[in-house]
Amino acid sequence: MLGGKSKNIQAKLVVLGDMGTGKTSMVLRFIKGQFYDYQESTIGAAFFTEVVSIQKTTVKFDIWDTAGQERYHSLAPMYYRGAAAAIVVYDITKMVSFERAKKWIEELKRQGNPHLVMVLVANKADLNTNREVDIEEGKQYAKDNNLQFFETSAKTAENLHELFYEIANRVAQAT
Ligand code: GDP
Ligand code: MG
Repeated sequence: MLGGKSKNIQAKLVVLGDMGTGKTSMVLRFIKGQFYDYQESTIGAAFFTEVVSIQKTTVKFDIWDTAGQERYHSLAPMYYRGAAAAIVVYDITKMVSFERAKKWIEELKRQGNPHLVMVLVANKADLNTNREVDIEEGKQYAKDNNLQFFETSAKTAENLHELFYEIANRVAQAT
């Protein structure tokens, strides 16, 4: 990188996971710096863009915040077509959302591209007293599947900066 030219990358980032896991809240917290207690659920996908700069590289994310396809058994190819990165979210207070996250990851592995940057995210870390999914369980699954893992909270913003910067870094390296 030293003395290298600056680089501008455009990257599609898809956010997947069960309904109510906090996908929209995470994205809004990251790009607007705010948390909304009530979030109207979107049908289809909402689009956001956000730029992350690391040294001389600028990554412009086109974020697809998916909704509605949670009830389908497989993901429409348009969601991951051309994606550089995918965030798969579960809610630490809901074991079923963790099981669902595993399904999304399996599907992405089957149908996605081998260079796809995939991250497993355990959200709602602030609700630790209602925890159903042990942090070690999430970590171990991520490790076994070669994924990056973060426990986050859209409410307190814990680890969100780290999450998006890590993705930007990995995407920049892969590009
Ligand atoms: P989505 O369906 O995955 O997009 O989930 P939403 O972003 O709509 O969030 C569902 C509900 O969980 C909303 O009431 C949010 O305010 C709440 N929520 C989202 N993230 C967090 C979090 O990190 N902590 C807590 N306590 N609540 C959250
Ligand atoms: Mg949503």
